[in-house]
Amino acid sequence: MGPHISGITDINELIERSYVVSIPLRMPFRGLTHREVMLIDGPEGPGEWAAFTEYPDNVAAKWLAAALEQAFDDTVAPAPAGVEKVAVNATFPALDPGDGAAWWKKFPGVKAAKVKVGEPGQLLIDDVARVNAIRQAVGPDVTLRLDANARWSVSEADKALFMLRAFDIDYVEQPVSTVDEMVYLKRQLRGTGIRLAADELIRQSGALDEVIDKRAADIAVLKVSPLGGIRPTLALAQQAQDAGLQVVISSGLETSVGLSWGARAAAIVGYQTHSPLAAGLGTAVFFESDVVTQPLKVAAGSIPVNRPVLDPRKIRKVIAAEERTTWWQERLRRCLPMVANGLES
Ligand SMILES: [Mg+2]
Repeated sequence: MGPHISGITDINELIERSYVVSIPLRMPFRGLTHREVMLIDGPEGPGEWAAFTEYPDNVAAKWLAAALEQAFDDTVAPAPAGVEKVAVNATFPALDPGDGAAWWKKFPGVKAAKVKVGEPGQLLIDDVARVNAIRQAVGPDVTLRLDANARWSVSEADKALFMLRAFDIDYVEQPVSTVDEMVYLKRQLRGTGIRLAADELIRQSGALDEVIDKRAADIAVLKVSPLGGIRPTLALAQQAQDAGLQVVISSGLETSVGLSWGARAAAIVGYQTHSPLAAGLGTAVFFESDVVTQPLKVAAGSIPVNRPVLDPRKIRKVIAAEERTTWWQERLRRCLPMVANGLES
């Protein structure tokens, strides 16, 4: 356990403080129709353990470190005084092109839209049709971002970005998986105005140093939960900005509990920046219901920066089945010692 996290006496107390919820999604995302997470109600407020269920324990333990920081750490930097909201992007999953315009309406006032591309089961023509429909729906003044989640090979990325550049793309998140592939592609894209962002390379491979050394990206995408908390996130943000990269704070399909910590990070990072990039934190809209008194809905292109307060009535409505709760409790028993052993470092 990090030196700042105190007050966790034992696993049974943690379990007593926890709720597993399964929340239906309005729009399938990552192949999911429900989002299952464990909430931990600590002395500092609620924490969200949102590691996707297929993740191995060593990865899930990092997400747990973030949840424990949220619930138990009373020394984390607060949002800067006076910063009450942060700008967010719209997030488009691999939806049918015909559904693009209706989904866009859920993000009023937003100035940037992020579109998933290269998803399993999708062909390049599907991506082109979707990005085309979304560009038409959002109009010419909204910035478009693509995210391929490291799924393309270099030649697939070459071909795809040759087709997709017609839609005026600001940047592409991890078109390819390795640093060297990113470097190659960045060279190919010179003169097109399309920038590259690193996401998986930072949160899964811990390769920000190499990304910086080889100038493999223009933007660092940072997510509080997968990175093990706001503390490591802010340290990476500082490192990236010192090296001349821009930072985008994003998230992992979390409830408004997890999103609120992203908003805090984005408020801190944006406060030091003249023109902060819109954060990937507008995803509360995916959830049919939420778990806090004031869900972080998008209004005027932003979400509020606030401290989450659990709503027991809302939690009761989405509480998970007993066997799923048991599954998470067992996962907690396995992962807690990994956090205690300092895996997050
Ligand atoms: Mg990404």
